[in-house]
Amino acid sequence: MFKPARWHRLVGQSTETAVPGDADSLILDHVSDGVLIADMRLRGHPIVQVNPAFETITGYSAAEVIDKNCRYLQGNDRLQPEIAEIRAALAEGRSCAATLRNYRRDGTMFRNALRLEPLRDHEGNLTHFVGLIRDVTHAAGIDRLTGLLDRYALLDRLAQLELSPGCALLVIKLDILRFHDVNNGFGYDVGDALLRAVAARLATLPAAAISRADSNNFALAFELDDASRAAGIVEGVLDLLRPRFILPGTSLAVQFAAGFTIGLACAEPLQLVRQAGAALQRSKATPGHSPHPFAASDERDARNRIRLANELQTAVSNEELLFHYQPQVDLGSGVLVGAEALLRWNHGAFGLQPPARFIGVAEETGAMMEIGAWGLRTIAAYAARINQRRDTPVRFAFNVSVIEFLRRDMAAFVEQQLEETGCQAQWLTLELTENLMIPEPDDMRRSFEQLRRLGVNISVDDFGTGYSNLRYLERFPLSEIKIDRSFVRDVAHSAAKRVIVESVVKLGAALDIQVVAEGIETEAERTIVQALGCSVGQGYLFAPPVVESQFEQLLHDGFRLCGGWSSSGDKNR
Ligand code: C2E
Ligand code: MG
Ligand code: MG
Repeated sequence: MFKPARWHRLVGQSTETAVPGDADSLILDHVSDGVLIADMRLRGHPIVQVNPAFETITGYSAAEVIDKNCRYLQGNDRLQPEIAEIRAALAEGRSCAATLRNYRRDGTMFRNALRLEPLRDHEGNLTHFVGLIRDVTHAAGIDRLTGLLDRYALLDRLAQLELSPGCALLVIKLDILRFHDVNNGFGYDVGDALLRAVAARLATLPAAAISRADSNNFALAFELDDASRAAGIVEGVLDLLRPRFILPGTSLAVQFAAGFTIGLACAEPLQLVRQAGAALQRSKATPGHSPHPFAASDERDARNRIRLANELQTAVSNEELLFHYQPQVDLGSGVLVGAEALLRWNHGAFGLQPPARFIGVAEETGAMMEIGAWGLRTIAAYAARINQRRDTPVRFAFNVSVIEFLRRDMAAFVEQQLEETGCQAQWLTLELTENLMIPEPDDMRRSFEQLRRLGVNISVDDFGTGYSNLRYLERFPLSEIKIDRSFVRDVAHSAAKRVIVESVVKLGAALDIQVVAEGIETEAERTIVQALGCSVGQGYLFAPPVVESQFEQLLHDGFRLCGGWSSSGDKNR
């Protein structure tokens, strides 16, 4: 292949121009690496020759690049740490190698494994630099979508870093929150464009390493001369990501969770990345998702999550899942009209687990599909059993995960369960959290319509907390809205919240949608939401979620609200 010594001789022959002779052009024409030659004697170090492979890789023709400085290949992406190394090598007239993000004529990024070799004349004066350009975008270690390092290359890079004395390494991990919603709601091409746009912003940071660790997860490393600057740097990264991302057909404001950790020069890179990941999990699990510095307890939590994820796979077959039932009460008469089924996991070692502990893990690992199928079957069978002996049937509400709705034909699945269990469609309400209802909901709306045609009720859970949009109420065939408990709590103190609740109730009445208030804890809250027009309520004031036998006892005794009701049903909560 390429031999600097040969180039030396050939280019050296020509004193006026740097264009090599014919024999060399022939070689240039046939090497697969892009080659460019810059004249270091002229101002601006212009390119004086490129080969066909250069034109293929970059998309620029020779005529377009001759006389330009090769800097233009960097586009606006100037803050790459490798560039400093290249500048120094050029100034000192020595050879160097670095992998850069460069940009083709059409604006797409490629990873350029660049090698620079100086050429000297007979007196030893620097005359030219030869640049060898190799497109390693699809090479091992590079994430194809974003051009950032992949997670293995990140570890390699961190292991190779030579920190200046007294410096520490800051490792940050970032997650795009609700990335699934972007993919599912807007399509994978928009999801991909978002990842690329995030990568492009991150690439402008003076980081020692930037990587896309996996799907919507990024990792960055910074050299720190002063550990107290860590939180400020993390804030700076998040500030950079705050402006809306302009994507094909839409623009999105995106929220990120962040975890970070600081290590000394001798720290094991894998451990730092793990620590930042564990801190990230904490940030994801905290309301508001503020950035989280690593603490030793995070690693324990992370280990527990992994353990839970493994054990969840067999929770259904081991019959460790069960439902508690929380009564729903007619606010006018105090009569029990329904119940929400709330999932619990009776874990062998950790005891009874609330859904917040494991639903997220189940969704991430795919276990949710099996759990959801089991749950629906169980509730349909239970509703059939309870209602066959009753004059006025009880309606059972069942929470459906977003994932299930997207991955299975819910209408067909529900219909099958109804047939097999003898449950009637109107005994069943499917609750979906509002943030499921993102744009492009055509498939979703079709499913909803099929379910409503079957006679199944559909409820929007936690209304007011998601991507709130009153138009959903009109566009989706809903039968119920559950006003989130944060509104119910505030309604006693905040006039503004009262107006919101009242408007939702009025809208519901106009559209023939029942409005349920959840989380009613006090008599005052009950009185107000009732006065505002909510017909049905649910909350500790009436009953906490209770085990099956207690629920049946309630039904048997003819549950009716009389002052308050306290039960030991959910002591662990
Ligand atoms: P959700 O559907 O909004 O359920 C209501 C949650 O509020 C329940 O928590 C319930 O115990 C709690 N709650 C009820 N009354 C009161 C009250 O007066 N005050 C307060 N502070 N809380 C009250 P839980 O059982 O921990 O469930 C949490 C969430 O987990 C549910 O929120 C639901 O989104 C999800 N979930 C529960 N079961 C399932 C399931 O079978 N499948 C799926 N995909 N998600 C489920
Ligand atoms: Mg619910
Ligand atoms: Mg709710």
